[in-house]
Amino acid sequence: PAEIFAPRRNSRGWELNDVGELAALDKARAPWRKATWTARAVLTDGLAEGDARKVISPSDPSDIVGTVHEGDAGTAARAAGLAEIWDAPPSERAAALRRAADLYEEAHGEVFALLSREAGKTLPDAVAELREAVDFLRCYADEAERLSGDAPRGVIAAISPWNFPLAIFTGQIAAALAAGNAVIAKPADPTPLIGALGVRLMHRAGVPRSALQFLPGRGRVVGEALTECSRVAGLAFTGSTGTALAIHRRMAEHLDPHALLVAETGGLNAMIVDSTALPEQAVRDAIASAFQSAGQRCSAARILYVQEDVAEDLLKMLKGAMDELSGGDPWDRATDLGPIITETACKHFEDYARRAEAEGRLIHRASSTGSGNHFAPVLIRVAGIADMAEEVFGPVLHVATFPAGGLDAVVDAVNARGFGLTMGLHSRIEAVARRVEARARVGNLYVNRNQIGAIVGSQPFGGEGLSGTGPKAGGPAYLPRFHAPERVQSAE
Ligand code: GLU
Repeated sequence: PAEIFAPRRNSRGWELNDVGELAALDKARAPWRKATWTARAVLTDGLAEGDARKVISPSDPSDIVGTVHEGDAGTAARAAGLAEIWDAPPSERAAALRRAADLYEEAHGEVFALLSREAGKTLPDAVAELREAVDFLRCYADEAERLSGDAPRGVIAAISPWNFPLAIFTGQIAAALAAGNAVIAKPADPTPLIGALGVRLMHRAGVPRSALQFLPGRGRVVGEALTECSRVAGLAFTGSTGTALAIHRRMAEHLDPHALLVAETGGLNAMIVDSTALPEQAVRDAIASAFQSAGQRCSAARILYVQEDVAEDLLKMLKGAMDELSGGDPWDRATDLGPIITETACKHFEDYARRAEAEGRLIHRASSTGSGNHFAPVLIRVAGIADMAEEVFGPVLHVATFPAGGLDAVVDAVNARGFGLTMGLHSRIEAVARRVEARARVGNLYVNRNQIGAIVGSQPFGGEGLSGTGPKAGGPAYLPRFHAPERVQSAE
């Protein structure tokens, strides 16, 4: 096996600028336009029943995507009791994960359909998500072989987010499995059906049921129960900072003191634009960073800091670009802005925008319209990041200005908030980029481009401080964390 993080080729994905390929893609997803799915707990000893709940599409309340049978604390305890580590040679585990990647790609029509209907993903987002999922599978398969001598930890609970219900869901599971652990996979509350499909494909690829069990259910019920099962040796969690802190506290109370927590959480991510930036490029990248996936990414830009002498022109262009975004059904190829995941979240953003408007801080509201939980993106003025009370997980971009010579103070203000996930910088001065790189305490700094969509293997993703524990997903340090730490023998 290679001694270093393996150089490898990511999947090709789908070329959305190719008319023939697009037509084939539409044909592949068409049969799933009206289909319905069912998800239930899949345990080593069979399927478990649970309270049935309808899964409704966030873009159309009349679109019933399927039914989930949610487990409870008892189901979680049963899964933990039944879990068995994957006692196969690393090469065998790697082969199964690679087969799973192939099956994921073969199922692309169904995957894209579910991602659009259950999670509200636009087609480009769905395509990127499937690519990321298969890249994780193959990346960690390679890693299993590279690090083949190390022992697993035991039972890992993988608690994943709805905003990457396939990619992050699969990444957590694949890493833990590649390291030889047993996994209990809990999908996010809004997106159990796509998780169920992923698990079905992994089982079909040869991952044993005893090593991978599926546990749909409410975070407050099964998620909490998992943090109390003494057999759980670790948790991989992606979601809000508040939930990660709550998990950490519960783990301290109930689990072995050496239990693992890998948490990837929120951010108050800044994009900084100085007066040397190319405005067209900065605007394009601000739009993508703040509003792609309707802003529902932990990497998304939440505050745009613009040097004051170029602010007026830049904001004018930004407003115009926002008005070009079209909302609508994420299934339609013309849609840029899919829905907000829940009605509650959508209402929360409406309240937030209304408050800003009442305070005279609403700079602009995009003209987009759409069905279901549509929220037209907004720009909101703030004095600086210190004014932002919370991470607003949607298409809400705050704007502040800074004077010439004020760049260091901006970076210091961002650092002072304690989050540290992504930062974007637009500047044509190399020395400025180097200075920000040295000063910013963030996991991923992107210069003269957008700040979302980290690529597995080449852009390991994860933050520091309140944004997460590390190690970075898709990087060389990730898989080793899922191995048992070496026991240090004391001299006595
Ligand atoms: N990895 C994703 C990105 O780079 C974000 C992950 C998340 O939102 O949790 O955009």
